[in-house]
Amino acid sequence: MAKEPSGRGTRPNRKKISRREFLGAGGVATLAATGLVTGMGESSSQAATSEGIKYGMTIDLERCFGCQACIMACKVENNTPMAVFWMYVFRFEEGRYPRVRMQYLPRPCMHCDNAPCVKVCPVGARYKREDGIVATDVERCIGCRYCAVSCPYSVNYYNWKDSDKSQYLDWTTPEELLQVTGGAIPPYENPDHEALYGREMRLISGGSHQKGVMGKCTFCVHRVEKGLLPACVANCPATVYHFGNLNDPESDVSRALRKKRFFRLAEEIGTQPRVYYLGAPPPGLEFRKIQAMEGRV
Ligand code: SF4
Ligand code: SF4
Repeated sequence: MAKEPSGRGTRPNRKKISRREFLGAGGVATLAATGLVTGMGESSSQAATSEGIKYGMTIDLERCFGCQACIMACKVENNTPMAVFWMYVFRFEEGRYPRVRMQYLPRPCMHCDNAPCVKVCPVGARYKREDGIVATDVERCIGCRYCAVSCPYSVNYYNWKDSDKSQYLDWTTPEELLQVTGGAIPPYENPDHEALYGREMRLISGGSHQKGVMGKCTFCVHRVEKGLLPACVANCPATVYHFGNLNDPESDVSRALRKKRFFRLAEEIGTQPRVYYLGAPPPGLEFRKIQAMEGRV
């Protein structure tokens, strides 16, 4: 897989506008005046370059057997809060017992090339990087949730609680740590999420777990910038995922795309997802209706 030039760094000492300041000072009008609004109307940041790195993913539906290792890998890697799943695996059923077939469909963020979430974000917090990753700058996000409403794939999660109150266990209580792990395992908190990424040097990794901001799959940008694969890709036991540079014909993802027929979710609405599903789509309502008419179910 091609590696993007590393853009990691520490947080610069720059002036930030807090959400409270933003809302108190008249919101969008304030940011428009300060030149920080880039997400309104036609977004200049959304036009991904056709040259250079163009990250994408394939998901082979013929190989997925629903073990959910990708969901767990994503949760651990990104320290996502309780009941938040940046990666999710949907289950489809076809037929009636004993003639039943199951099919699974993993769903990360599609990192759309024509992303509605980027278009509607009033403060430019949601933006598309040059390499195609759709990111959320948590230092700019004001928690308006427009992105969640506009996304046709339901991949956005709003953080209702502070990070330490939204985890499954209260790791700050020594008694609980002792009870659960015998005190042997320290609470896992990935320090990579505190770094800034990309040429823009923005806080876009799992650091979104602060109250009042939006979070979603980042294609594990903190790993990708180190030349590693996203956690779901690296941990799938069935090699369902391929990830890499779509502009490189020899990358894993390009080769996977050449081997099988593919489709993209809700392609007809024009979002231009960067996630390609290999194999046949899961059976839908129409398929079941046809079976019912033939008297087979
Ligand atoms: Fe935005 Fe949703 Fe597309 Fe992800 S899947 S880029 S959140 S519109
Ligand atoms: Fe932008 Fe979404 Fe944050 Fe609103 S909630 S500021 S649309 S990223």
